[in-house]
Amino acid sequence: MTIPDITIAIDGYSSTGKSSFAKLLARRFGFTYLDSGAMYRGVTLFAQEEGLINRRNMVDPSLEQALKDLDLHFDANNRTYMGDRCIEHLIRSLEVAAQVSPIAAIPYVRNYVDDRLHAFAKGGRVVMDGRDIGTTVFPDAELKIFMTASEEVRARRRYDEMVAKGEHPVFEEVVKNLRERDYIDSHRETSPLVRAADAFELDNSEMSLDQEIAWVQGLIQGKFSIL
Ligand code: C5P
Repeated sequence: MTIPDITIAIDGYSSTGKSSFAKLLARRFGFTYLDSGAMYRGVTLFAQEEGLINRRNMVDPSLEQALKDLDLHFDANNRTYMGDRCIEHLIRSLEVAAQVSPIAAIPYVRNYVDDRLHAFAKGGRVVMDGRDIGTTVFPDAELKIFMTASEEVRARRRYDEMVAKGEHPVFEEVVKNLRERDYIDSHRETSPLVRAADAFELDNSEMSLDQEIAWVQGLIQGKFSIL
């Protein structure tokens, strides 16, 4: 099946499997995958390393100026870089996850990330995942998907992912982090996480990745009249 040159926006709660789904979709249909959450995680890591955020999530206002020189980008394998340093592993830690939502609620941080995402997406044929892609970053995206899954399934997936990487997470802490992030992401003033009115909902609590791809294929065939 050949998909036309469209932009696909995938939003949803934490650990609903957005990035696995988006990556596979991009690979199957020759799209560029962009992980907007990685940008927010990169800004968070930067703030932590520079000592610009404290334990109580108070952010030093000099972060705004410092972002002007911050070079966050992806390589061809979707790994995240800060300048020439690969930070892919570092940004997936629970320490970064614990502070990313307060950082992502700051309007100038959102502007910084939005500018970069638009620059990366210039060539078109993009699948981007995040929290506000279909509502704010690409409100005109031709296809919008909003992903959900039960909290239990999401926490278990996140936990297993971390264990597979050799980490030793505490299950209750993973659940707590998911809840906190979802709450902050859904209640912030700037670009909160909400389902776009024209987004199709995908609850993948009991679906395999292949079933998800079959679902979206059907959706695309119907929407763009592809035989
Ligand atoms: O998708 P991921 O879990 O990596 O995102 C990390 C965090 O970045 C989210 O919890 C949210 O606070 C923020 N985010 C956002 N808007 C996006 C993508 C991520 O606010 N488009």
